[in-house]
Amino acid sequence: MNAVDPLGRLQERLRRFAAARDWERFHDPKNLVMALAGEAGELVEVLQWVDQDSSRSAGQDPLLRPRLAEEMADVFLYLLRLADVTGIDLEAAAHDKIIANARRYPPIPGRKD
Ligand SMILES: [Mg+2]
Repeated sequence: MNAVDPLGRLQERLRRFAAARDWERFHDPKNLVMALAGEAGELVEVLQWVDQDSSRSAGQDPLLRPRLAEEMADVFLYLLRLADVTGIDLEAAAHDKIIANARRYPPIPGRKD
């Protein structure tokens, strides 16, 4: 990923953020995975006691939406940072995974991906 693509720009910004605080020493893959899991738990917490209909409209709910956005961002940023420190091209990995999923779960006959 280079610095001109959106994910690369975010990773560069995270790199500078960590360096300015001397946090790079904490950003090993194990710590980042643990932080990611913690943030995923916080995301779960937002919808934990919400019924299914309310969860479907959470993106339009004035109370839930900002909390969802914050925790989704936390998960996303830790995942981006993890991809950066491991040298994994997250966009390429995501495309590869979609291809693998398409092979594993073919579309319903008559429908296209
Ligand atoms: Mg959080």
